[in-house]
Amino acid sequence: MTTDFLIVGQGLAGSLLAWHLLDAGKRVLVVDRDEPGTSSKVAAGLVTPLAGSRFHLPPGLGERLDYARQFYWRLEEASGLTLFHHRRIARLFRDGGEAEVWRDLSTNPSHARYHAPLAIDPAQLLAPHGGFEMREGGWLDVPAFLEHTRQTLLERVSYAIGAVDSNDVSASAAGIRWKNVSAEWIVFCEGWRGARNRFFDWVPMRPTAGDVLDLELPDLAGETRIVNKGGWLLPLGGERFRAGSTYRHDGCDSAPSPVGREEVLAKVASITPLAAKVTGHRAALRPTIRRSQVFMGAHPSHGRVAFFNGLGSKGVLNGPWHALRLAAHLVSGDPLPPQSDLRDLF
Ligand SMILES: Cc1cc2nc3c(=O)[nH]c(=O)nc-3n(C[C@H](O)[C@H](O)[C@H](O)COP(=O)(O)OP(=O)(O)OC[C@H]3O[C@@H](n4cnc5c(N)ncnc54)[C@H](O)[C@@H]3O)c2cc1C
Repeated sequence: MTTDFLIVGQGLAGSLLAWHLLDAGKRVLVVDRDEPGTSSKVAAGLVTPLAGSRFHLPPGLGERLDYARQFYWRLEEASGLTLFHHRRIARLFRDGGEAEVWRDLSTNPSHARYHAPLAIDPAQLLAPHGGFEMREGGWLDVPAFLEHTRQTLLERVSYAIGAVDSNDVSASAAGIRWKNVSAEWIVFCEGWRGARNRFFDWVPMRPTAGDVLDLELPDLAGETRIVNKGGWLLPLGGERFRAGSTYRHDGCDSAPSPVGREEVLAKVASITPLAAKVTGHRAALRPTIRRSQVFMGAHPSHGRVAFFNGLGSKGVLNGPWHALRLAAHLVSGDPLPPQSDLRDLF
């Protein structure tokens, strides 16, 4: 089989790249291990424009956010599916320090687009230090997005289940060979396994394990906003909620842990006094290199071998814009965004 791009991994990164290469008129073959419990399958898929306790406005946020929403909505229009759920975020301050940081920022014109006054019922949500309502947030149904991508690839005979071992890949200036596949490029989108690859074992991957719980919270059934107080609660309809998350840097163990469960439940208890029943518990490893900084581009010496990884905890927001840039780089030689150039890590 001959293709233009062999993409290894169909998580968020591999899926986003595949859509952008198809849009550019390229042939792709995506090979995925088809395993449960990957970061993309467990992720809540939240888009939180002002993240962290300092409500920092990352450079280029507006452009990335606009592009991500446009990209997901374009897929929705073409498929008739609902993938991205636009939701406001009730951001409750954890302490007086957060309230103080926000007091200065709330009058800053650069933040004006992203906030509105908060209204809450104190019997349902705990906000003794106040808070604000964050605009332009939402969540992507990541499993639905992955499944739609997979079906589209299958219709084009562009998807295969399998594990690509980098030792079986031969790379030369003329192109790539893996088993019976010849390609112009191979792009590794392997998530946390990315640095186990013989081409990229120098990438400082630091997987971060995270737990999420599925909950029933009947007394909060009317809440439609995402609620964030460091931890978060995501309404899924009726009394069903998802809650998270933990950040464990203790190696590559992604099994759901009792400690993780208790940590998430403590976060929920700080958000609402209402009783919650746990109906599910999952965990996975986020692919983290430097916080949520994406790294991508061609290998410094193997010119036809490329990498797209490091989506961290902001893959849904940052991924589409980076996939657009990476596709333009691989197809037309456009420059990469300097802060995402993989060669900086070499
Ligand atoms: C608990 C938790 C909560 C999260 N919440 C959010 C959130 O709210 N918002 C957000 O934006 N992000 C969130 N994230 C992060 C988000 O999941 C990641 O940014 C993103 O999904 C990473 O996608 P990826 O494709 O790089 O990696 P992965 O999802 O790990 O996908 C890699 C894929 O490649 C396959 N693969 C790997 N090696 C090979 C190989 N050699 N051959 C074939 N296939 C291979 C794997 O099976 C997998 O399917 C969360 C993550 C976790 C764990």
